[in-house]
Amino acid sequence: MKSTYDVVVVGAGVGGLAVASLSAKAGLRTLLVEQCDRVGGRAISIRGEEIIANGAGWYKKLIGKQYSWLPYSQPGLDEIISRKMLQWYTLDVGYHGVALNGDGYFRDLDDVLGTGVPMVGNENGTYIGDEFYMDVNGTRFDERLKKMIMEQGIPMHKFYLGAAKMKEEDYDALEKVSVSQWCKENGLYENKTVFGMIHAVSTLITTINDPDDISIGDIFRYMGTVINPRFKAGKAKFGSGFTVGGIMRWSQAVANRFIDLGGDLLLNTHVEKIIIEDGKATGVVLKEESGAPRQVQATKIVSNIPVQDSFKYMNKGEFPQEWADRTERLYGYGSIAPYFGLNKLVMPEREWNIGVKDTLVIPKEEGFEYNIYMCWNIQSQTDPSCAPGGKHLMTAYAPVTEKEARDKDLMVKACKLIIDYLERRYPGFRKSIDWAMFPTAWKLEGVAKSKTQAGTLKAPIEAPAVAGLYFAGDTAKGYGVAMDCAVAAGLICASRITGKDYGVS
Ligand SMILES: Cc1cc2nc3c(=O)[nH]c(=O)nc-3n(C[C@H](O)[C@H](O)[C@H](O)COP(=O)(O)OP(=O)(O)OC[C@H]3O[C@@H](n4cnc5c(N)ncnc54)[C@H](O)[C@@H]3O)c2cc1C
Repeated sequence: MKSTYDVVVVGAGVGGLAVASLSAKAGLRTLLVEQCDRVGGRAISIRGEEIIANGAGWYKKLIGKQYSWLPYSQPGLDEIISRKMLQWYTLDVGYHGVALNGDGYFRDLDDVLGTGVPMVGNENGTYIGDEFYMDVNGTRFDERLKKMIMEQGIPMHKFYLGAAKMKEEDYDALEKVSVSQWCKENGLYENKTVFGMIHAVSTLITTINDPDDISIGDIFRYMGTVINPRFKAGKAKFGSGFTVGGIMRWSQAVANRFIDLGGDLLLNTHVEKIIIEDGKATGVVLKEESGAPRQVQATKIVSNIPVQDSFKYMNKGEFPQEWADRTERLYGYGSIAPYFGLNKLVMPEREWNIGVKDTLVIPKEEGFEYNIYMCWNIQSQTDPSCAPGGKHLMTAYAPVTEKEARDKDLMVKACKLIIDYLERRYPGFRKSIDWAMFPTAWKLEGVAKSKTQAGTLKAPIEAPAVAGLYFAGDTAKGYGVAMDCAVAAGLICASRITGKDYGVS
């Protein structure tokens, strides 16, 4: 490691990896610093054997650094470990589906880096009550849904295709409009099935349960600039997908490319401070796990830490007060992210290879701010490498607010209610469970894409009032679904640092 760099990137999450690798590719001397023993941040994977070898405390500490904890498991985690129940499973920190099966901003990054990580795509479907409908996939439309909207003259195309005609200023104006409000104004609210489908897709994209809070502008920007054009050009085939071998295969491949390009990666190293002198970021203070603090200088510093945490590392007084106060108050959205090790599949075969969702898995009357949605996949059907032969890995995510995610009693109750729901949906489900774990994140999305925070309302890529300081990751200005959004912010940030155009602004 040198003591002077052109660029120091703090945090090897998806966003930090994107900026660092592009910075190194552009020939800048780049240091990437990560507090954990592996790269990926919230996009890490953990092998069952690692948990068996290192124990429950190790697992909890690792996920704790990624804004997650384990409120509940069946049986208890110590028993799961001692009985080696996780052997040959690969678990992402929680469910980690990649938007557009990696053909969104992930593809833009890979077009520059050429890592070629294999992905495997899946279509998606939605339960509205007990009726099941396939989601729109490219030009494919569920026949029963099509018949219903034709017979009743419901303009559902406005949601799926309307964004194609929009311009930047339309997206900006709609950022502060909720999905419900927009649907009411466009004749898409009254029919429960139609609105239910739109609500389900909107939650899939934003991870927010309440459609009165989801920003329609953020969804339209992603649809109009990424989803629609890529399906139309045949560049995207699936709404979502998984990285073969776990999401960290992607994170690790980008990190390997970064190192090949001459970048320096420091793991197990905590950034204690980002140094700001005379309104300019000049370096960082590092602390390796065992070592004394050391200082590294750089002309550009990228913080890929969720922006609300900035002032743990920087003096708040260096920034405009109103901006800093608002930044601290930005809220994320959490999620329960269950894994089930199953000994057989009791769900209908049509659901084995797709993502399935329902906006009413737990009613709000059970003590939640809004009805709880859930999306689930039999991940091992899509990517057999994540479970041992003869067993199945089902992964899911059920959004909850940051506050709900931290409430132990509420989360234990929610985990049990999720099993009750699945037993009702798929009789025999309970008996098919070998083990179940419910890691829960209070920050699945670092900044929730709500009507008060989405898109241009997020933190800017270039920090106000401090020269040479940049923000990246899912809490900075970038669009789309969580990880894809973190890559988008990384691409924008890299453009500002290198002066090159990566196609997003
Ligand atoms: C349970 C769960 C399920 C999810 N499911 C999905 C999904 O299905 N699809 C999807 O697209 N997204 C999903 N996400 C969200 C996705 O993982 C995040 O949006 C994305 O990974 C954020 O990347 P980032 O680079 O912005 O931030 P992070 O991943 O948070 O990166 C920040 C990095 O900084 C490091 N760090 C923090 N402080 C310091 C310090 N002081 N010094 C050094 N390093 C530091 C952290 O360890 C971390 O590596 C999920 C997240 C969780 C938690």
